[in-house]
Amino acid sequence: MSNKIHSILNKEALNKQDIVFLLELDEKDQQLLFKKAAEVKAAYVGKITWFRGLIEYSNICSKNCYYCGIRSGNKQTKRYELTDEEVLSAAQFAIDHQYGSLVLQSGERSNRDFTAHITKLLKAIKQLSSPALGITLSMGEQSEKVFREWYDAGAHRYLLRIESSNPDLYHKLHPDDDIHNFEKRLAALRLLKKLNYQTGTGVMIGTPFQTTEHLANDLIFMRNFDIDMCGMGPYIENANTPLYKHKSRLLPLKDRFRLSLKMIAILRIMMKDINIAAATAMQAIDPLGREKAIMAGANVIMPNITPGKYRNDYDLYENKPCTNEEASDCNTCLEVRIGMTGDKIGYGAWGDSKHYFTRRKNP
Ligand code: SAM
Ligand code: SF4
Repeated sequence: MSNKIHSILNKEALNKQDIVFLLELDEKDQQLLFKKAAEVKAAYVGKITWFRGLIEYSNICSKNCYYCGIRSGNKQTKRYELTDEEVLSAAQFAIDHQYGSLVLQSGERSNRDFTAHITKLLKAIKQLSSPALGITLSMGEQSEKVFREWYDAGAHRYLLRIESSNPDLYHKLHPDDDIHNFEKRLAALRLLKKLNYQTGTGVMIGTPFQTTEHLANDLIFMRNFDIDMCGMGPYIENANTPLYKHKSRLLPLKDRFRLSLKMIAILRIMMKDINIAAATAMQAIDPLGREKAIMAGANVIMPNITPGKYRNDYDLYENKPCTNEEASDCNTCLEVRIGMTGDKIGYGAWGDSKHYFTRRKNP
């Protein structure tokens, strides 16, 4: 068995069959996969973990994805939007702690008041620091004009998960209407690349109706799309969402977690120099989930620096971690946690995707 694993891990390019085989490795054999991914990570992007301070800007969303706790149809959620002062003080926290970069994430809204306000905030964040903080946005699908405006205002990375690269599965996870449209999401992802963003995508792992083949195809999609960054993690149910009724179809949480680690490790082997985030949802299942992801090939974590009073309301899924803590509480343990993985922390730098620069040199 281990000979077969080694020969697959040393192949030039993995095919779908190889990926399915690796995704199905048991707990003992998966260690060979993680070891190989750690070697690839050390050789191509170094044993460095980059921090992005995560600001959950607002849980107001115009969409209604079946899996998400802040979907517009969930009337249990108390809606909020951070004030400009709160955003800037979180950015100042990131500067003071040398995080180097921010992620500004939010429910999706495309009205002009909202998009213009984000433009203003981006400019204000850029002015706050010298050298300026790097900014990743995760604000859903927007028009070309808005993506361009935000890029010009200082955002240079964008994370837009495709959620599933299979249109039929995508359709099962979203309402059947014009704003939850697979082709539109794909077109938005293409736009981001065209506009020179470092472009990130990802999927939820372990959703109802998903098979190992779907996941293998998702990884092949990411390779074919030539992404610069990936943020993917386990799907975690939320009782206030329509998808909850399919709970009985789900893998146990610990299997969804293990599958997520394998997805990260395989992607690291397939796309050696991209940035891969250790998703917060990993930590919701296992208190050391993000650290385990780092050891399996991830090189980015996103410590939550949203003001504590809002944390409970960005309730995408159950058991979201750190919901009652202020950023400083989380920060005290981060050095020890990353130290455990053997990585160094990339303080004070943007920690851009190496792949972005390689692909632009060799289009
Ligand atoms: N609204 C933007 C969007 O959808 O791209 C950005 C914010 S959205 C909350 C960020 C990500 O949260 C989504 O891409 C989705 O994959 C993830 N998410 C939502 N509900 C989830 C759940 N129940 N379990 C795991 N991840 C979830
Ligand atoms: Fe809105 Fe994003 Fe949640 Fe979908 S996943 S409901 S777009 S916040």
